Amino acid sequence: MDGHNYEPLKAHILPLSQAQNFDLARREWSLVAVELSEEWDNCPCGQDIKEHCFIRNGITGAQTYVGNVCIKRFIGIDTGTLFDGLRRLSNDPTTNPNAAVVEYAWKNGFLYDEKEYGFLLQIVRKRNLSDAQQAWKLKANRRILKQTVVARRTRR
Ligand SMILES: [Zn+2]
Repeated sequence: MDGHNYEPLKAHILPLSQAQNFDLARREWSLVAVELSEEWDNCPCGQDIKEHCFIRNGITGAQTYVGNVCIKRFIGIDTGTLFDGLRRLSNDPTTNPNAAVVEYAWKNGFLYDEKEYGFLLQIVRKRNLSDAQQAWKLKANRRILKQTVVARRTRR
């Protein structure tokens, strides 16, 4: 056991869901936002987390968050390489965002336009960028980080 306990998580999610069978209830939820924080917080399962996945119930409209492990293990939503990419970006804002980060940023309106979206996808694996491309990437990276990394968060 690594501290991600099913029972407390279930006890948190079920009252916010329509279905009372957890396997059905978890399907009501979708990911709406993610956040990297610099302070520890707690997942409803009790585990310390710094990676928040904000989820919304499509039927009840309830919102809550769980950690990056529980979202996959219990809710069944795979965030893929999104958090790895965000973590890498927050450690070094000059790196190229990975495809998961670019997709996430596009879907959440953090990118300026479709051209920027295409540009970022194009450079995912590119090493040599021109100065202009480097500057463009940095601008986009800062916008992405501003919306996903928080220094302090008020407990909800
Ligand atoms: Zn958890």
